[in-house]
Amino acid sequence: MSGSGPHKTTIREATCRVKYDMTGPDAGQIHFVTAMAPVKVVVVGAGVIGLSTAVCLAENLPNCSVTIVSQHLSPNTTSDGAAGILITTEFPDVPVDRQLRWFKDTFDHLLAIAESSEAGKAGVFLSTGCQIFKEVPRDKKPYWSDVVLGFRTLTERELKRFPHHKFGHAFTTLKCECMSYLPWLEKRFRNAGGMIIQEKVTDLRSLASHFDIVINCSGLGCCSFLEDVDVEPIRGQVVHLHAPWVKNFIRDADGKTYIYPGMNSVILGGTRQVGDWRLEVDEVDRQGILARCCSLEPSLRGGHILREWVGLRPGRRSPRVEKEQIQLQDGRKVPVIHNYGHGGNGVTLSWGTALNVLRLVSQCIQHPPISRL
Ligand SMILES: Cc1cc2nc3c(=O)[nH]c(=O)nc-3n(C[C@H](O)[C@H](O)[C@H](O)COP(=O)(O)OP(=O)(O)OC[C@H]3O[C@@H](n4cnc5c(N)ncnc54)[C@H](O)[C@@H]3O)c2cc1C
Repeated sequence: MSGSGPHKTTIREATCRVKYDMTGPDAGQIHFVTAMAPVKVVVVGAGVIGLSTAVCLAENLPNCSVTIVSQHLSPNTTSDGAAGILITTEFPDVPVDRQLRWFKDTFDHLLAIAESSEAGKAGVFLSTGCQIFKEVPRDKKPYWSDVVLGFRTLTERELKRFPHHKFGHAFTTLKCECMSYLPWLEKRFRNAGGMIIQEKVTDLRSLASHFDIVINCSGLGCCSFLEDVDVEPIRGQVVHLHAPWVKNFIRDADGKTYIYPGMNSVILGGTRQVGDWRLEVDEVDRQGILARCCSLEPSLRGGHILREWVGLRPGRRSPRVEKEQIQLQDGRKVPVIHNYGHGGNGVTLSWGTALNVLRLVSQCIQHPPISRL
């Protein structure tokens, strides 16, 4: 198991243990009640997509044993550094009603956490602010406007704050801080009986030989074992500022400039550099971020920098959430369900795409999960 001692558990040992446990006194009970061997599911990746997916499967499919295999764990994933605001875009290759469901399912799930006593531990809370446009958009009411709360158009008076912008929306959405949310999800996963192995996957076929179903939630890391020419990094740099008087978010609709107040800092961004693999903080980028953000919110000039961060978004024209099958040398066919390529919207769509994977896994094992899908 990850970080639990000098001996690192391998995938082979872990899968053997699952088998061994099934003959033990406790697990044996499950075995006889269902009269079925457990379906061994492996999830590759422990970012917000992998952990959300693993929790959905472990909590809803009592006949499955779920193992996460991941090269990095929180706090060392891209998801950990995401600003975590729930704002979506429109992907060209996915029907709008499917995208809407991904977003709505995530919003409803996180809203329930924000309204519960778990909100502080999970790092999930409501955030109110505006999205502003330099040109009036063709579609003044985006398809997701009914998912967020209190969506409306900015008034002329409100727009006067932003002399370079001609149009804007105001609404309340959610902010999900993954530095808290991922450990919270990890705990939920372990409580549901899930197991985590820290290991890099280099070959999907050899992994599949130990499991019945493989779920690929490896984000940009899928490049190390999958040929998908559509996947590319979109570099993002952010500045964490101490400016506790700033309470409302401001986002330029071009996605390059944003101010997101959080629990311990205000996140200022950003950059969207396609194909750029650099993980170092760039001085010129920092100056650009500070200049653009201060022109939208001049009071930020009174803040001070706490830290800076660079992450690589798993860029793709549209997220890939679908099933395929790989054939092993022994002739066995193993379903592989992909859930990656969420670009700058991974937190926003995390629970919705995880539920989508749950539906696909349920079809594979032809056994309905215990809760509503
Ligand atoms: C600056 C910035 C700001 C952002 N702000 C927002 C925001 O406000 N809202 C929003 O919704 N999104 C935001 N995002 C996007 C968000 O971070 C991503 O969409 C999200 O993190 C993708 O999650 P993931 O789990 O797919 O990838 P990751 O977090 O990268 O996780 C991938 C996991 O797979 C593992 N892995 C990879 N390769 C292998 C392998 N070969 N073997 C084993 N394990 C492997 C990794 O170790 C990791 O655990 C932002 C991103 C950046 C960079």
